[in-house]
Amino acid sequence: MKLGAHVSVAGGLHNAVSWALEIEADTFQMFSKNQRQWIAKPLTEEEITAFRKPLEKTKLGPLMIHGSYLINMGSPDETKGKRAQTAFLEEYNRCEDLGVEYLNFHPGSHTHPKKDMRDDKVVREEALERIATLMNKTIDETKGYKSKLVIENAAGQGTNVGIKFEEIRHIIDRIDDKKRIGVCIDTQHSWASGYDWRNNFSNVWDDFEDIVGMEYLVGLHLNDSKSDLGSRVDRHENLGVGKMGKRTFKSFMTEDRLKHLPAYLETPGGPEMWKPEIAVLRKLAEE
Ligand SMILES: [Zn+2]
Ligand SMILES: [Zn+2]
Repeated sequence: MKLGAHVSVAGGLHNAVSWALEIEADTFQMFSKNQRQWIAKPLTEEEITAFRKPLEKTKLGPLMIHGSYLINMGSPDETKGKRAQTAFLEEYNRCEDLGVEYLNFHPGSHTHPKKDMRDDKVVREEALERIATLMNKTIDETKGYKSKLVIENAAGQGTNVGIKFEEIRHIIDRIDDKKRIGVCIDTQHSWASGYDWRNNFSNVWDDFEDIVGMEYLVGLHLNDSKSDLGSRVDRHENLGVGKMGKRTFKSFMTEDRLKHLPAYLETPGGPEMWKPEIAVLRKLAEE
């Protein structure tokens, strides 16, 4: 596996490259702008070159941009949906300009106000279909782009959709140009939504293979979990000290179906923790 982490872009996007080298990573994930802003200014030539030049001197990659948490393409409100797609398209433009392979995003939320409608199948599927429609629109508006749109499975907090493999498949089925998309599995989110990596590792991947298909998997977010299996609570923990445990991460590192993929840490503690975590993962892969 190619190991990296979600590194900081404080002070400029190019700083992500330095951080990745600092923690001795093979790759990295980053935000492409301030996460509290809806829309950022388009990137200047200088900013693009400042990022690409130092990157070219490294072997880092494949890279991933994590999309803004503000974007909800699952919203039933048409104005909000439109605004979300505009912001999504803008992030996709930045991703392509920077030569980053993947734009990873959380599918969205159905936002139904009634609590007992949280897991209503129709309500959830309608949101998944709105997301697919806006993804198709975005793909239509960006002909020839090389970067892929990557659906990340959600933990299932609030009215988040895209939790179970079937829900991810529901989106994929409605995408016109399937070559333009991929899937990223967050180990903590899947644990929180009920996939037992600890006791059922191979079977979960078998299910993923059957329902989604390994050909869509482009990467992993490697996180241990503060919250319980099936809790639907999104709380990342450092590898080996959470509920999933060290042995589970050895399974990830030695699984043949994952060996060619990049994996990005989103664990607490920053670079000081990521450097040793990456080193431990490399050891686990060899044991
Ligand atoms: Zn994640
Ligand atoms: Zn998360």
